[in-house]
Amino acid sequence: MSAIETYDVIVVGSGAAGAVAALRAVELGLSVLIVEKAHKYGGTSATSGGVMWIPNNQLTPNDDSKDKTFTYLNSLLRSEVQQNRLEAYVDQAPKMARFLTSVGIPLMQAAWPDYFQTAPEARADRSVLCDTFDGRLLDDRHFVGMREQYNRFKIFRRYAMDIAEFFAISTRAPGWIKVFLKMLWRYWSDINTRLLSSRDRRFTQGAALMGHLYKQVLDRGVEVRTETALRELVMDGDRVSGVLVQTFGREYSLKARHGVVLAAGGFEWNQELRERFFQVPGLTRHSSSPEDANRGEALIAGMNIGAATEHTEAGWWIPTMHKPMDSASNFDEIHQAAFDVGRPHSVCVNRNGHRFVNEACSYDEFGIAMVEDQLKTGANTPCWLVFDANFRKKFTAGGFLPSMIMPDWRIPADCWDHYLFKAESIDELASKIQISASELRTTVGNMNEYARTGTDAEFARGSNAYDQMFGDASVAPNPCLGPIDTPPYYAVPINLGDLGTKGGLKANAQAQVVDGQNKPIPGLYAAGNNSGNPFGNLYPGAGGTIGPAATFGFVAANHMAAAAGVKVESDSSATLSASAQAVA
Ligand SMILES: Cc1cc2nc3c(=O)[nH]c(=O)nc-3n(C[C@H](O)[C@H](O)[C@H](O)COP(=O)(O)OP(=O)(O)OC[C@H]3O[C@@H](n4cnc5c(N)ncnc54)[C@H](O)[C@@H]3O)c2cc1C
Repeated sequence: MSAIETYDVIVVGSGAAGAVAALRAVELGLSVLIVEKAHKYGGTSATSGGVMWIPNNQLTPNDDSKDKTFTYLNSLLRSEVQQNRLEAYVDQAPKMARFLTSVGIPLMQAAWPDYFQTAPEARADRSVLCDTFDGRLLDDRHFVGMREQYNRFKIFRRYAMDIAEFFAISTRAPGWIKVFLKMLWRYWSDINTRLLSSRDRRFTQGAALMGHLYKQVLDRGVEVRTETALRELVMDGDRVSGVLVQTFGREYSLKARHGVVLAAGGFEWNQELRERFFQVPGLTRHSSSPEDANRGEALIAGMNIGAATEHTEAGWWIPTMHKPMDSASNFDEIHQAAFDVGRPHSVCVNRNGHRFVNEACSYDEFGIAMVEDQLKTGANTPCWLVFDANFRKKFTAGGFLPSMIMPDWRIPADCWDHYLFKAESIDELASKIQISASELRTTVGNMNEYARTGTDAEFARGSNAYDQMFGDASVAPNPCLGPIDTPPYYAVPINLGDLGTKGGLKANAQAQVVDGQNKPIPGLYAAGNNSGNPFGNLYPGAGGTIGPAATFGFVAANHMAAAAGVKVESDSSATLSASAQAVA
């Protein structure tokens, strides 16, 4: 019998939480293996915007502080949270960021307003992103092996966009055509990469973050073992001593000397767990995370050994739209409608024809409003985005590009009156989507009046910097409110989608998983969506999921290293002790 492979640390899941845990642990001298269920590594994180919410980040000198962050957060928290875990997050997130920059990961502040601009101490410098990454700095196997971004984040399913390019092109800001032509040139003149893969070597957004992280992880000799799924946690008495994994049907055990970090994402692709935990379960297929990856297997493995859970009642919501794939319309593609729903010349209504939210609010708040309205009226999930020809000309609606790029005649025939509805009048549209014409007419009439005055008397849409960021600067007096008065009129159904789930295994301030008595389970850590997030049912700002994921990955590694006898400095540096190597 061959000896069991042993590592200091085994990380389950290769997203942001897992990558930062692995990088910090290996930097502290521990031997690390990452096991990843999918055939590609990087998780949802690699497909994401890659933004991290890191309050008081000090990446450029500013007057943010721990106190100001708490003033902001405390005014918003709507569910009970572990105060010491929240405090650990606020304390450790800047240290995690400092650690990443110290190993060469180029973080920068994004001018992204916090999601609750009317809350005290809201700012626009707490979201952090990573500069683009040249994917060819990874070896060829890892270049093509990292999960690719969704087509919706690429122009014509091919050209990668960074966030500035995304905004320039999607809002047709001055100079957007030049931006677009530059992208085209960069891609096609890269002949070497074109011979290897259709993948753009320029990793942007989440791929940039994960590219930079994995460059560091792989350069330090860490193996990422794909097609390797966690099946069970292995116990030695009351301590987690390893994992049982499965690769192509073969099961085998791996041993972890100092800890197992569960970083296997949420449970958004597990319908049974959605029904069990969510008040309004929604459907797995409306999730916008990679299909079927995060099924809560590591959450279940933790629960099976007595771990407690928290904040499992909600997803990181985002309105989504599913549309037939262009190339194979038997299959659906999920498109996020996060910013579409707040653009001028449109309104969102439930199936009673009534508004239920400030449509320009953050996507998580939009989802929370959908859930609340569904519980109240039973006429939401799906709701409808209704818009006119002016909107259609300028903006995307789910997966449909603006008509100036994709005119109606280019939309496949099997989409009409099925995924996308069109009519010459509001009454006709209401009849097609089976809602009351008089209610819809009244709602549209109200919106037209709000567009004229610039004031949304019901939900104050467009009244703050966050809303306005996604409006249209050429629309006055309110960039988020334009009249819905130019036929034809359109409607698309909007689903309760998600970016992942907010809750998971209950972990403490040190990222240790705890049992029902809040006692740490020795050897077991959790980070990212595999664990309950520190904010409960709240998404405070852009990067509110990856910020904590990376932070508690960092915290877990520090704790394991300290337990292994490494002197971990309170700041981001560490004094290394000799570390064990992986033994066969
Ligand atoms: C399009 C999009 C954009 C987003 N943009 C942002 C953003 O800009 N900022 C932000 O904060 N959040 C964003 N999010 C949400 C964010 O991406 C996720 O919440 C975050 O990436 C979760 O990180 P994680 O490390 O916990 O999990 P993931 O990145 O999902 O990684 C989990 C990994 O575990 C693997 N796994 C699952 N089960 C097993 C198993 N049994 N064994 C082994 N491996 C397993 C999965 O295959 C996956 O690779 C976005 C999401 C989407 C879909």
